Amino acid sequence: MTAARDRGRGRPGDPLAEYRGRRDAERTPEPVPDGPALPRGDDDTFVVQEHHATSLHWDLRLERDGVLVSWAVPKGLPWDPGTNHLAVRTEDHPLEYASFEGEIPHGEYGAGTMTIWDRGTYETEKWSDREVKIVVHGGRVSGRYALFRTRDRNWMIHRMDPAADPDAEPLPAALRPMRAARRARLPRDAAAWGFEFAFGGARLLAYAEGGRTRFTDGRGRRVDGPAGLGPRLGAALGSRRAVLDGERAVLDGRETYMIFDLPHLDGRPMLEAGYRERRERLDELELAGPLWRTAPWFPGEGGAVRGAARERGLPGVLAKRLDSRYAPGEESDAWRFIPS
Ligand code: MN
Repeated sequence: MTAARDRGRGRPGDPLAEYRGRRDAERTPEPVPDGPALPRGDDDTFVVQEHHATSLHWDLRLERDGVLVSWAVPKGLPWDPGTNHLAVRTEDHPLEYASFEGEIPHGEYGAGTMTIWDRGTYETEKWSDREVKIVVHGGRVSGRYALFRTRDRNWMIHRMDPAADPDAEPLPAALRPMRAARRARLPRDAAAWGFEFAFGGARLLAYAEGGRTRFTDGRGRRVDGPAGLGPRLGAALGSRRAVLDGERAVLDGRETYMIFDLPHLDGRPMLEAGYRERRERLDELELAGPLWRTAPWFPGEGGAVRGAARERGLPGVLAKRLDSRYAPGEESDAWRFIPS
């Protein structure tokens, strides 16, 4: 029996039968070719698609004998050899799928947004029913990977090369947030400060990685976040790794996670970067969703911000020195709470 027939799971000659069986060409924008898989190409195309389905995952697809052999990887490809990730074998996809991006309609199989996260070429070092060893050459990910089958459709993916970014640091398990000292007046040298609204909500830190999010409170204790926030914020960050600092504000009667700092981004602690740099990097993430916002900040404009806070009935403003480091667990004079 050939490898292609094996993958057809009892439907010799048509490895795409399962793929077609799950889709209606009239209802999905995905390619649904009529003919059998074409044994063409050089078996060297790889693509990783980011799939915002019921739960975010990344689909790894490798061209092999005229189809894209596919795995759904819930946490994405591992970046270092120390952590293997689950990879669930899914049905073979047609080669045309390698360039597919789009919206699979609600109610259809795999409903949600599919985008290309990375694509490129790969070389095969080993290919069997239980183990696949490859070298991928992509724009975002490169290196040697092994996929090995554990049970039924479950496989694991392991990075055989050293860590893609040897200097990357893991997310901290818990970070006690930096705290503001209470002051009666705005700082006089306003140009050296950034100003934010204080919304009076409970402190909440979010740790997002591999599309998943966990939370700690103002004392660094593990807590549940607001209902629905974790998965949606994790999906918004995709493959970015970040610790976010913010508060559970109530805006227009609705709980909203107002994010105002970024102590860690993509394997780099940001504690020593100045407040201004952290805020600019946070703004670049463009975090704005139904349950969260990036809190506004105003360099050098304390009086106007305090006036607006009074008008809106907010408890006060925060003044933060533009050049100040993030000091976990400390009440620092570089952060000041000034009541309205
Ligand atoms: Mn998928």
